[in-house]
Amino acid sequence: MEQTSAFHLHVRLDNIAVVTIDVPDEKMNTLKASFGPEVHNIIKQVRDNTALQGLIFISGKPDNFIAGADINMIANCQTAQEAQNLAHQGQQIMAEIAALPIPVVAAIHGACLGGGLELALACHSRICTDDEKTKLGLPEVQLGLLPGSGGTQRLPRLIGVSHALDMILTGKQLRPRQALKLGLVDEVVPQSILLAAAIELVAKGRQTSRTLPVRERILAGPLGRSLLFSMVEKKTEQKTRGNYPATQRIIDVIKVGLGQGSFSGYESEAKAFGELAMTPQSAALRGLFFASTELKKEHGADAKPRPINAVGVLGGGLMGGGIAFVTANKGKLPVRIKDINNDGINHALKYSWDLLDKKVRRRQMKAAERQREMARISGGTDYHGFHNRDIVVEAVFEDLALKQKMVAEIEQNAAPHTIFASNTSSLPIADIAANAARPEQVIGLHYFSPVDKMPLVEVIPHAGTSAETISTTVALAKKQGKTPIVVGDSAGFYVNRILAPYVNEAMRCLVEGEPVDKIDNALVAFGFPVGPIQLLDEVGIDVGTKISPILQQAYGDRFAAPQSIAAILNDDRKGRKNGRGFYLYPGKGSRSKKQVDPAIYKLLGVSPKGQLAEKEIAQRCVMMMLNEAARCLDEGVVRSARDGDIGAVFGIGFPPFLGGPFRYMDSLVAGEVVAQLQRLASQYGERFAPCDRLLQMVEEQRNFWG
Ligand code: NAD
Repeated sequence: MEQTSAFHLHVRLDNIAVVTIDVPDEKMNTLKASFGPEVHNIIKQVRDNTALQGLIFISGKPDNFIAGADINMIANCQTAQEAQNLAHQGQQIMAEIAALPIPVVAAIHGACLGGGLELALACHSRICTDDEKTKLGLPEVQLGLLPGSGGTQRLPRLIGVSHALDMILTGKQLRPRQALKLGLVDEVVPQSILLAAAIELVAKGRQTSRTLPVRERILAGPLGRSLLFSMVEKKTEQKTRGNYPATQRIIDVIKVGLGQGSFSGYESEAKAFGELAMTPQSAALRGLFFASTELKKEHGADAKPRPINAVGVLGGGLMGGGIAFVTANKGKLPVRIKDINNDGINHALKYSWDLLDKKVRRRQMKAAERQREMARISGGTDYHGFHNRDIVVEAVFEDLALKQKMVAEIEQNAAPHTIFASNTSSLPIADIAANAARPEQVIGLHYFSPVDKMPLVEVIPHAGTSAETISTTVALAKKQGKTPIVVGDSAGFYVNRILAPYVNEAMRCLVEGEPVDKIDNALVAFGFPVGPIQLLDEVGIDVGTKISPILQQAYGDRFAAPQSIAAILNDDRKGRKNGRGFYLYPGKGSRSKKQVDPAIYKLLGVSPKGQLAEKEIAQRCVMMMLNEAARCLDEGVVRSARDGDIGAVFGIGFPPFLGGPFRYMDSLVAGEVVAQLQRLASQYGERFAPCDRLLQMVEEQRNFWG
């Protein structure tokens, strides 16, 4: 047996070689350029051993095959040529694997992503486990890149061009059954027989290449291809608005490979990889990746978290239902819900049931598993079962006296060590803890709706919260699959504080006579997933408009919302939830799309003349957000530019390709941010006056990320 640092070659008695991939001292296997010579050496040994019958690649890690290439390696490249060379090296290794004369099988369990899938694609067949941890995908686009080790060329030939475009352009990760259906893997087996099944596959000999379904074959022809590419280009442009250069390059490179042959395809892939690695968009997206990876490792405070074995939830409404779901489903923790009535409990149980049921219907989960998941959640109208809860998350009505009562009841009915975490969106945590017997165990834990989808939570200690409470709450959030940022206990915390002035500015544009859809379109073109007015409709106009008055009271008139907005609320417009907001929402399942309700303009007493350029609208809204974000950092509401960027991207959908408000301000340079704010202040009012922090940064010629 030959021992190498990450790749271990073992030749079995039946003359089948097994290469176990096990990067030392790492939880995940990631590919590094330094592995090149050892893989090359192994392939040479395999090639030279003419007695060998086949080769199997398998992982030595318990839950991942190869999670991708090491991103640091790409981030460290100084020039496009350096990054292009990296791609060439990767392509070379994959080509050596593909050219082996014996059958080569990838035996996959766990994450098989990016460079990992490219290695599997270079093998002659692939077999994977049916485990829920097994996922296959090429997520490079999410880092502003494309697969640079042959993935753009091999995938279309294996599964057909339309499916390959879909996978590479979205970066989606396929589950085992989906991968089997598309022909990405040849077999799906239980983990216990993975190696045995791979050996059997080797014994079958090298598979002849799979015949693509008729539809894919038509699309592979010159006419079908040209139609498909023009359709995909149009759709991609609509979705990305030209903000993500990687998508067009992916399309181009696949086009070259199919039109001009593999050699040109690989050349074009490596070149595009090198150039994309140098784009500011890729740098920003990689920055977000590093930041969220760091946050996953941090405790949020200088204390060891307590173990969490059981969780309580107070209130089974919209938020409580979602919190119970992520705790049980992602965290695999038992959850006990308490509500004042059975309707609340039923609502929460149904919330989880519906989400799990959807998975069963999509064949992503077996019915028996749904039962096991549901068995983790129980509820009642008293505190039965709360005696052993390590942490209780409170999501009752937004009312200070009620929340204080909840603290007292938990102190009486739960364990002495139980943490009380409030999901309040606007009440100071210090006030909620004011009468607590154990204020050090009270903290804020602010989720975003819908809880099962939104990745961010804000963890909000008040002055008396203990370090252990902070780290245990951060640990719970991570178990629930969330990215937590620790923020200050001041009005609006961080996310709502930067969101409110942005939405208010959109409202100002509206009352000045800009059409609803033009305003939303301006911000979507800037890079937000939805516009600010649609966002208000989604959050609920009744819920969203409650925030500004609280912030206005705390920080002054820069948070004042235009008064005429009250007319919208008085007209019983709550947004999507009651079918009437700034837009009208035709009944569920209807094919007709949401439309701006012209009655809005009448209610506001304006005619939608639309005199501003879209760029001006976007600048007004975004600059209000940036200025407030800088204030938050100055006041210590966020601990770092990194946390502020993650909060805005994960909590609001700030354009990821800009990296977050702080990275964006750095790219503009503080002087330009201040100049833009001053111009807007002179034109539209003092609310745009640049904050002290920004002025100081101009003076000291500093930037946020250092
Ligand atoms: P909701 O009205 O949907 O649910 C509240 C639930 O609390 C109801 O089921 C109610 O019966 C229950 N309840 C009331 N008094 C109770 C008591 N004494 N004991 C146990 N249960 C009790 O409200 P929601 O939208 O889920 O909001 C809950 C909290 O989360 C609020 O503090 C809100 O500000 C906050 N929040 C809401 C959102 C959002 O988008 N809705 C986002 C973040 C935070």
